[in-house]
Amino acid sequence: MTTDCLFCKIAAGHIPAEKLYEDDELLAFRDIAPQAPVHFLVIPKKHIQDPTGVAKEDEGLIGRMMRTGSKVARENGITDFRLVFNNGAEAGQTVFHIHMHVLGGRSLNWPPG
Ligand code: 5GP
Repeated sequence: MTTDCLFCKIAAGHIPAEKLYEDDELLAFRDIAPQAPVHFLVIPKKHIQDPTGVAKEDEGLIGRMMRTGSKVARENGITDFRLVFNNGAEAGQTVFHIHMHVLGGRSLNWPPG
């Protein structure tokens, strides 16, 4: 755990979140400011700053994030959804602990803003 990281604190249970799924490696929880009827985040418990920080040894973990996000999406009643990783401030990243947004439950526009 990185002590000044918000999502490490959520993963450790030090800051509350509405959890949808949890195992030894991953946590899924609802976004505090949802941008769609269903909007949750999937994070690894391990601290990785952003997608560019993913090492070869993390490849399986990132695949599990996708599988888990898809499963939790189905459990929350959506079959069509968008998966988003923001990398860097200009791309909209505000929390520097890698996370995958899962958004759905309404029509989504493309391109995103
Ligand atoms: P980013 O902009 O870094 O891709 O996404 C960070 C997301 O984390 C945002 O959608 C924001 O609403 C969400 N977020 C920020 N702080 C908290 C928090 O304390 N709890 C939860 N559940 N979500 C948060």
